[in-house]
Amino acid sequence: MSSGVTGGTHGVLDGVVNGGIAFWYADDGLPAVREPLAGDASADVVIVGGGYTGLWTAYYLKKAAPDLAVTVLEQRFCGYGASGRNGGWLYNGIAGRDRYAALHGHEAAVRLQRAMNETVDEIVRVVAEEGIDADVHRGGVLEVARTPAQLSRLKAFHAHELSYGEHDRELYGARETAERVRVAGAVGSSWTPHGARVHPAKLVKGLAATVEALGVTIHESTPVTEIAAGRAVTPYGTVRAPYVLRCTEGFTAALKGEKRTWLPMNSSMIATEPLTQEQWAAVGWQGREALGDMAHAYMYAQRTPDGRIALGGRGVPYRFGSRTDNDGRTRPETIRALHEILVAFFPALAGLRVEHAWSGVLGVPRDWCATVTLDRATGLGWAGGYVGSGVATANLAARTLRDLVRLDSGRQPEATATDLTTLPWVGHKVRAWEPEPLRWLGVQAMYATYRTADRRETRHHAPTSSRLARLADRVAGR
Ligand SMILES: Cc1cc2nc3c(=O)[nH]c(=O)nc-3n(C[C@H](O)[C@H](O)[C@H](O)COP(=O)(O)OP(=O)(O)OC[C@H]3O[C@@H](n4cnc5c(N)ncnc54)[C@H](O)[C@@H]3O)c2cc1C
Repeated sequence: MSSGVTGGTHGVLDGVVNGGIAFWYADDGLPAVREPLAGDASADVVIVGGGYTGLWTAYYLKKAAPDLAVTVLEQRFCGYGASGRNGGWLYNGIAGRDRYAALHGHEAAVRLQRAMNETVDEIVRVVAEEGIDADVHRGGVLEVARTPAQLSRLKAFHAHELSYGEHDRELYGARETAERVRVAGAVGSSWTPHGARVHPAKLVKGLAATVEALGVTIHESTPVTEIAAGRAVTPYGTVRAPYVLRCTEGFTAALKGEKRTWLPMNSSMIATEPLTQEQWAAVGWQGREALGDMAHAYMYAQRTPDGRIALGGRGVPYRFGSRTDNDGRTRPETIRALHEILVAFFPALAGLRVEHAWSGVLGVPRDWCATVTLDRATGLGWAGGYVGSGVATANLAARTLRDLVRLDSGRQPEATATDLTTLPWVGHKVRAWEPEPLRWLGVQAMYATYRTADRRETRHHAPTSSRLARLADRVAGR
């Protein structure tokens, strides 16, 4: 699928491959699809969704109890969702930490943050141990400020992270930032070692193969139409199990009864052609840090294993009625906007061709707080609402779901709780999103406001965040 995205860009957007799930599948092609469910079945645990959350949960359950019958039901193929499309920032951010601090106290949120730091280590460890080829490069995360307002936000953000115990985080001025990555106009940055660059699709593909080798049953091309206590219903049969775990993130709204649970928010990306050695020499980025900024409509980027820049940001953030996906097709104006960010960051790369553009959906709860829950009365569990920080969080959620299931089923008879099940995000309840058209209007207004705030901050060199952006934060419930 190609699309010419012309207009003032000297042809660098001509012939962009648009959609096709994601650039990450361009080399190897989409994976062969596993057999769908063929009639009714039973299991000890059935997991709906074959992304990082579902697959990591299957992995840890099976590792803890090899005799457990675990079935994963996936509507398309493992990695069809955000797990096969994301920016490959494996990092220690978790949506909702500050709110959890407000609800449960600072120390509880520090424990959550520490668990997230450890989760980055855990994924790097397991990937190595299981021989999963996911192109992991542990270069940390570098977030840059390019305006005075961004710099004041950066400093506040940096101090805030230190207050959660991240003492190994470093604050850089313009010169030290440029020594890492030469981003035009960068006036400062904050770097954390708790991050790595990964190849998202290789990670999810390797994970699926690993759990299958452990004896987990995976059925693909098997959409679940209804989840209820003790069963997951599909057009091809029903899988019955005492535990049914919903791991459907941005697609959750399509499930019966879940329309207003988590809002499906789009994020879009572009990948350039490979840079030449001279171009890399001009850009720097030898440490291959996950790269982001402090704009309200922030960007995220990675230096890919094959020497390109993959860069993302909010495209069309939300579609009316919580509609989700069209295999990653992205609007031309979004592609152009992402290209403008690329050129603003690296003006010398203005002539670099963009080869691929795609989008995916993430799940956003009404209070922007990620959660993991097992309802002991029904055996229904779920994890998600990670907003844009799910690559690591899904792993923490999975280990927590494992503990919750094991505690409930008496497989851990000596324990009533574990370090993970007492983290403040476990069992968190949040109200539903507003019905349409309020939902659509609210999100459109919020992102328009963020974009306007960014433009004003850039144009007027305002020293602090604009009142507009603070207003949007309040509307968003953040
Ligand atoms: C473009 C983009 C960039 C991102 N970049 C980053 C990043 O750099 N770092 C980061 O931390 N996070 C990032 N994220 C978020 C991160 O990718 C997700 O939070 C994470 O992958 C969520 O994993 P998941 O398994 O919960 O959901 P998903 O990966 O979306 O998996 C859900 C799966 O469930 C399946 N499914 C849904 N409904 C059904 C059903 N009814 N029946 C059967 N199967 C069903 C879907 O097909 C899908 O495969 C990004 C997201 C996007 C979209």
